[in-house]
Amino acid sequence: MPTVGVLGAGIAGLTAAYHLQQQGVSVQVLEASGHVGGVIQSERRDGFLVEHGPNSIRSSAPALEHIVQDLGLADERVWANDAADTRYVVRDGQPTPLPRSVGAFLSTDLFSTRAKLRLLAEPFIGRADTAEESVADFTRRRLGPEVLHYAVAPFVGGVFAGTPGDLSVQHAFERLAALEDKYGSLFMGAVRRALSREGDDEGDDVPSGLFSFRDGLQTLPTALGDALGGQLSLNTPVTALRHDGGQWRVRTSSSGETTRTFEALLSTIPLHRLADLHLDTPVNLAPLRAVSYPPVSVLALGYPRAAVRHPLDGFGLLVPPVERDLNVLGTIFSSTLFPNRAPNDHVLLTTFVGGGRAPHHATSDTDALQSLVTTDLQRLLGVEGAPVFRQHIHWPSAIPQYTLGYGQVKKTLNKLERTHPSLALAGNYRQGVSVGDALTSGADAADRLLTRLDAPAAQHTAR
Ligand SMILES: Cc1cc2nc3c(=O)[nH]c(=O)nc-3n(C[C@H](O)[C@H](O)[C@H](O)COP(=O)(O)OP(=O)(O)OC[C@H]3O[C@@H](n4cnc5c(N)ncnc54)[C@H](O)[C@@H]3O)c2cc1C
Repeated sequence: MPTVGVLGAGIAGLTAAYHLQQQGVSVQVLEASGHVGGVIQSERRDGFLVEHGPNSIRSSAPALEHIVQDLGLADERVWANDAADTRYVVRDGQPTPLPRSVGAFLSTDLFSTRAKLRLLAEPFIGRADTAEESVADFTRRRLGPEVLHYAVAPFVGGVFAGTPGDLSVQHAFERLAALEDKYGSLFMGAVRRALSREGDDEGDDVPSGLFSFRDGLQTLPTALGDALGGQLSLNTPVTALRHDGGQWRVRTSSSGETTRTFEALLSTIPLHRLADLHLDTPVNLAPLRAVSYPPVSVLALGYPRAAVRHPLDGFGLLVPPVERDLNVLGTIFSSTLFPNRAPNDHVLLTTFVGGGRAPHHATSDTDALQSLVTTDLQRLLGVEGAPVFRQHIHWPSAIPQYTLGYGQVKKTLNKLERTHPSLALAGNYRQGVSVGDALTSGADAADRLLTRLDAPAAQHTAR
């Protein structure tokens, strides 16, 4: 059985390595930083539990559930508070709940009567005459401008830290585009899919909902890292890759330059880094180099409960770009979402700034950032006084943007794998940016590699 080198110990790399290990394949994971999990990092300090990157996972991926069960993490899991079903979107400076029922939709102030009537036209709107469309054009065409401004744009800010005018609906929201493609209408498609699923018990084993773990999301990568044990090398940045005589030579700069040899490679290194590894290949890597990963800053602030006027009875709030007086992308009510995120009688608010919408804000120093964030929180949530806790995390390259033309990136990735059958590529640039998507892409890439290496265990995956 060949030894597979897995590059990167984010959730995609750890999952891929664990999956290969379970199939009896010898793996070695090479990770540049001193910790596992990539952007998944949780930190407890002064009684507050801060998430540096993702705050919650939506459980729906069978591969994710398999790992949670297999590693015995089900008892550690904490489900989001019921209140988290409420999500606020800011309109005219006011946090307004996003409606969750037809009744709430009819009475909400988030959309005007005109916008509500416009939605009724959705089933009668024809398809676009272009093969690819931005999320903004797609939403404006099918659902009208207000739904774009007050539902889709804030959501795109929350998921991608991106802007709907830049992202491709075919790649960033593949399932949405597929509904139009297949049924001609989002409403009709959603209804027909819901009806066809009635009585269908597929996926019953996968509990649904948002979750984390008692000690934060870091629990998941830590458990995967522990399972990999000595097959994991931290502080081992990969600096160059060469395919030579049927083997991969991987140069690392851990303690001096070292070259390691593997029969196969599975890379989960972000594209902006992968493209700089001097990979000697006939494939043109320019589309990979061009993928944008805008910076994001996360500012976690702790306050005495009494210092915040808003009831914080929800997941958090999202700020649409059309609310031009405000600077933040959104704030998660972290201490409402999960238990034990703040000491008694205190709250934790986690605010995101920057992204494709305002990259310059993400690079502000901590004091400037705090001033920008607290100005918005004061207006939106009635936050008074100085925070008693503060943690600033800066991500220089946060989340890949699936922009118009992203098909070229996917083609390049597929071509790389076809040209080098002993190479597989996975990560949040491949089949979605959520933790569940990145994890699934790691498991899928491990399967592809197993099949190509002709390992008989490939059929035995429990997914
Ligand atoms: C601020 C933020 C908030 C988010 N919120 C959510 C959320 O609430 N829910 C959700 O589902 N998703 C969220 N996401 C997205 C999700 O967390 C990520 O898309 C996913 O975790 C990425 O996993 P990955 O393994 O693909 O990449 P990464 O986590 O980036 O891992 C890649 C790994 O490769 C390593 N590496 C890089 N270069 C080298 C090299 N040369 N040699 C060796 N190793 C290298 C890195 O150190 C890293 O450990 C968020 C992301 C961010 C940044």
